[in-house]
Amino acid sequence: MTAHPETTGPADPARLDTERMHRIYRHLHANPELSMKEYATADFIEAELDDLDIAHFRCAGTGVVGVVHNGEGPVVAFRADTDALPIREETGLEYASEAVGTLDDGTEVPVMHGCGHDTHITSALTAARVLVSDLDAWSGTLVLVFQPGEETAVGARAMVDDGLWNRAPRPDVVLGQHVMSLPAGAVTVSHGAAMSMADSLKVTVYGRQAHGSQPQASVDPIVLGASIVTRLQTIVSRELDPRSPAVITCGTFHAGFKENIIPGKAEFTLNIRTFEPEVRDQVLAAVHRVITGEAAVSNAPEPLIEELYRFPQCYNDPDEAARVEAALRAGLGEDRVSEGVPDMGSEDFGELSETIDVPSVYWFFGGFDPVDGEPPSNHSPYFAPVMEPTLATGARAAITGILAYLGAGNDRSGD
Ligand code: ZN
Ligand code: ZN
Repeated sequence: MTAHPETTGPADPARLDTERMHRIYRHLHANPELSMKEYATADFIEAELDDLDIAHFRCAGTGVVGVVHNGEGPVVAFRADTDALPIREETGLEYASEAVGTLDDGTEVPVMHGCGHDTHITSALTAARVLVSDLDAWSGTLVLVFQPGEETAVGARAMVDDGLWNRAPRPDVVLGQHVMSLPAGAVTVSHGAAMSMADSLKVTVYGRQAHGSQPQASVDPIVLGASIVTRLQTIVSRELDPRSPAVITCGTFHAGFKENIIPGKAEFTLNIRTFEPEVRDQVLAAVHRVITGEAAVSNAPEPLIEELYRFPQCYNDPDEAARVEAALRAGLGEDRVSEGVPDMGSEDFGELSETIDVPSVYWFFGGFDPVDGEPPSNHSPYFAPVMEPTLATGARAAITGILAYLGAGNDRSGD
């Protein structure tokens, strides 16, 4: 096996096919598709993998998995999510999206890569191109996981349920990355929690409908719901250890049709963010207790609490995170890489490793010109990563992270 000096290693910027990388990015950005409807995106990814002679299969409909066997060594899975969002793009970019899509309920909506998943696909495909062109620089097995449906928290689960790890080699580690509102060129890796878990609930509280002038004949679900919403805020402020972060947000509240009718029910939705499984259990138990307790003291029937969706833990195994961070520092430069803090957003990435009980590492890379003022956040209609050094950084970070395990000269005896 050839030992490559640092300057000519696979993560060298000169190895990237920049023109092709930019063409891929422009195409994907202009052609976004909604979650679990990434049909053309999957076709596009397959065509690129075909061009690289990488064997691939479909998983969960619009998921694509490419596998590169390259001799002895560990198995590394690298995941890129592929879906876009129902947002009307306002970036004014020459390659801005004018795409429309259809939500599950039939509503036609504008579609935009407002979370930057187009940079993830581009980085993964560019990294794959470099790695297959330099098979002497590494050995082992690379599994490229192009995952649909991240934004709706169903894609990772769908791939696992569709036999992902029976059909692809079972990895020793799962890697992933996300573009964020950080300066372009910067990479952050957290040790421990990378993103929060999320639980979304729909709550229906029932009362007794009556004339607005006759409260004695009613059980008022609006007063009940208001008490619940207020009291839920005491879970974080009065029940949790203040060193354990959590968020409980009531994002919608709907009840009634007319001011002189006390309605029969109220409906609201909750979004709950936590980092530690024990804290999650504690918060969810308290949420259920407050809702049913407030209903009981209001003399109301048992409320209905339904789970809308759940994002699992996105946890960086500290040893693996240290290994990847060291590789990124060496490959991208000390000044580009720092230890990050956990993000309050959520990801279904953890599902891919959690189900087979292997470690994972998930890092962030920046996408914005640091002198350009406050960058827009992910999911903003103005979310427009600068193409460079964003894409080169994403691709080089992917290559470097993968080679932290598969690169020539890595001591893998400890795995
Ligand atoms: Zn997103
Ligand atoms: Zn995202």
